Amino acid sequence: MRKKRLKYVYGPVASWRLGSSLGIDPLSCKDKICTFDCIYCQLGETHFFSSERKIYVSTENLLEEISSLPEIGIDYITFSGRGEPTLAKNLGEMIKSVKKVRREKVAVITNSSLMDREDVVKDLLLADFVMAKLDAFSQGSLEAINKPMKEINFDAIFNGIKKFRSLYRGRLALQIMFVEENKDDAEKLSELAREINPDEVQINTPLRPCKVKPLSREEIQRVKSYFEGMNIVSVYDVEKKAVQPISAEDTLRRRGKIYS
Ligand code: SF4
Repeated sequence: MRKKRLKYVYGPVASWRLGSSLGIDPLSCKDKICTFDCIYCQLGETHFFSSERKIYVSTENLLEEISSLPEIGIDYITFSGRGEPTLAKNLGEMIKSVKKVRREKVAVITNSSLMDREDVVKDLLLADFVMAKLDAFSQGSLEAINKPMKEINFDAIFNGIKKFRSLYRGRLALQIMFVEENKDDAEKLSELAREINPDEVQINTPLRPCKVKPLSREEIQRVKSYFEGMNIVSVYDVEKKAVQPISAEDTLRRRGKIYS
């Protein structure tokens, strides 16, 4: 495949959750912009916090880049990238526009921090697959693991995901990153997961390079036991597809590692 520098699109990447996926970074800023500063973030520390939605990339520019791509066989087009994708005020417009020019399903990976907002929910309802993060069971554990901006509140996140579940007809996955700090909270997190009732629970641990160590296969096995009866996928159990990114450099910048 011809190597090409890309501004807003990265990959395709092999994803244990999505098969092969072409990523769209709707923020595409030099530094990560997020409402969280997760202890395991593969993009390093958050220097630019924001909870204000604004247009970072014009929908027109994104579409121009997508239309210029070579033919690629992928399973999903995924909004993710360097920061929280729901911070893009035109996320809904982007999803609608991408669906007009591409036949793949559209996924969004969100940290759930803005899911109590009506405008964010309206945009996420347009996606075929939403992966919503929930690593914590209380305000205290949210602060310990995700280190949110001070206005971000655990109850609003949890209630936001629950309300979204009741409205959403697409596929909803709850994405839980387990690390040393929350591995003993698996039971409490499984209770919250049952209350939300997602289509799938993704049990993850950070295998890409970051500041904290991943849990072992055995520890993840123990965590999984609390979610018995739910549709679980775990990072250690899924075989990854082989893919070749259009630009390895741009993909590394967004994800920290290509194959994971
Ligand atoms: S929500 Fe995602 S991008 Fe933001 S700090 Fe956490 S892991 Fe990094």
